[in-house]
Amino acid sequence: MSSLCKTAEILKARVRAELRVYADAIAVLQNHSIAALAALDDPRESFQKAHELAEHARLAYLASRRKLNEHIASHGCD
Ligand SMILES: [Zn+2]
Repeated sequence: MSSLCKTAEILKARVRAELRVYADAIAVLQNHSIAALAALDDPRESFQKAHELAEHARLAYLASRRKLNEHIASHGCD
């Protein structure tokens, strides 16, 4: 039985939002990597940029998830 408090619900919504951003960033990265693989004289810069954005989104997602887990652990509102 789940009984997350208001704060945990907000943190959980944040995790979902960050995960959505991360998923989008992966999709963009995938397009760029396909383009980079296809082109021999490739747009390396755009791939690098997409990779950095995806990495940034990944860290934001992990941070939000950690924040939620820490809250639940300290508050006991699971
Ligand atoms: Zn709580």
